[in-house]
Amino acid sequence: MGLAVRVEPSVEKFVTAPLRKMLIDGKWIEAASGKTFETVDPATGKVLARVAEGDAEDVDRAARAARRAFDSGPWPRMAPAARQKILLKLADLIEAHGLELAQLETLDNGKSLGESQAVDIPAAAETFRYYAGWVNKVTGETNPTDPAFFNFTLREPVGVCGQIIPWNFPLLMAAWKLAPALACGNTCVLKPAEQTPLTALRLGELLQEAGVPDGVVNIVPGFGPTTGGAIVKHPLIDKVAFTGSTEVGKEIHRETAHTLKRVSLELGGKSPNIVFADADVTEAVKGALVGVFFNQGEVCCAGTRLFVEEKLHDEFADAVSKAASTMKQGHGLEAGTQVGPLVSQEQLERVTGYLEIGKKEGAKVLTGGERHTAPGLEGGYFVKPTVFTGVRNDMRIAQEEIFGPVVSVIPFKNEDDAVLQGNDTFYGLAAGVWTRDVSKAHRVARAIRAGTVWVNCYNVFDVMAPFGGYKQSGYGRELGRYALDLYTQVKSVWMRI
Ligand code: NDP
Repeated sequence: MGLAVRVEPSVEKFVTAPLRKMLIDGKWIEAASGKTFETVDPATGKVLARVAEGDAEDVDRAARAARRAFDSGPWPRMAPAARQKILLKLADLIEAHGLELAQLETLDNGKSLGESQAVDIPAAAETFRYYAGWVNKVTGETNPTDPAFFNFTLREPVGVCGQIIPWNFPLLMAAWKLAPALACGNTCVLKPAEQTPLTALRLGELLQEAGVPDGVVNIVPGFGPTTGGAIVKHPLIDKVAFTGSTEVGKEIHRETAHTLKRVSLELGGKSPNIVFADADVTEAVKGALVGVFFNQGEVCCAGTRLFVEEKLHDEFADAVSKAASTMKQGHGLEAGTQVGPLVSQEQLERVTGYLEIGKKEGAKVLTGGERHTAPGLEGGYFVKPTVFTGVRNDMRIAQEEIFGPVVSVIPFKNEDDAVLQGNDTFYGLAAGVWTRDVSKAHRVARAIRAGTVWVNCYNVFDVMAPFGGYKQSGYGRELGRYALDLYTQVKSVWMRI
């Protein structure tokens, strides 16, 4: 191991340690089995760090620690102001280590340093800060019952939360899961994705530095079916929160039926980004590019079905294609990189597989359409930003989640046709609408069956606004005050007067 690119000394030290251990009950330990796995830099394909590989025994230790911390530890019993102070300190620590975390994220995931610095790290800090604000505002109510009784409700934490996160926004997804859970007084067992465990492990150190008591957050890296599967099955875990593929989401749904654990699922998408001929075309082109090429297209809500009104279709597709063909690809740590590598060899094969499927289905490649192996990129998992035209909405490339820098441009006739085609998917995560007609924008925003609709913008996020899916994009809402519902339960107390 050893890095070909220059990074902060703390990053170099973090990745070149002989082993990155897991965090259980406040201690950094090896896996019970002694097994380890490697994480790679997707821009070079070279090994980045060695990580302890958890399995069922480690999950059991973590779940027991989290259970003890919940049943008899200080966290759920702490004065809200004290818990708030710790979460605020954690937000400050994330910011103070911003460059280090951003470099680590870029090395492990591939995304550009610019994106890590502008989006992932500050948004993670902001998520902890926002939920710190809720700690002393999660309240019950009194109810007007028969005067012989007094009835009130308590909003109590759910208990031990098993949280399974993906590789596309590793630190940010950890924050989306941990921050509301901790604010409400829960304890957690977190499993980062096998491809990107590093920032979650560094976050574990910062949680300790901020003063989160032992056992409150346990971080067990490992693989989906073993570590993730053990979390889903564990009898001491009360709730599972998952972000990832719809396929695994369904498996979790089935498996948790045995224990009736609470479940929230944030799953895939095939989001329509609808451009009407009366839109501000320059802005809509920018929105189409951000909609699909941000984070290499490894975004659950990416606007991968770009519906364009017939009369604007050819001009618009050409403009998007021209801009896509000039996007700079490279190592995420190189200045000016706009599109980094995909996260793994597996994801590279998946995305290039879809490029071939699209060509066989008869779609036309306007730009891209292949792996990028220019000198310097040949060892990494780069795919050229790709624009397909001649796509029908029933083709596989228009129906299945590709999760890479690939967009299908599809024509539509009128508003009804846009809504019909836009909704013609089993996903329902997000959508975009581009028009200068305010009434049309309102009508389409209501008619689209998706958890988020952006009008004349795309991929805009704020911790205050809820996020989650309709249809097979999952259930439960993260962010905003809605996430508090995922991590609390209501107790009704009756007192005879
Ligand atoms: P997965 O759904 O397999 O992975 C997401 C998380 O779930 C990871 O931590 C993974 O572990 C874990 N996991 C996998 N299998 C199980 C299981 N049986 N029980 C419990 N946890 C499990 O996604 P992939 O990484 O395989 O990516 C495949 C596709 O999924 C992508 O191409 C994309 O279409 C979609 N996806 C959607 C995301 C979203 O944000 N909605 C995010 C990521 C992927 P591990 O990775 O360690 O094996």
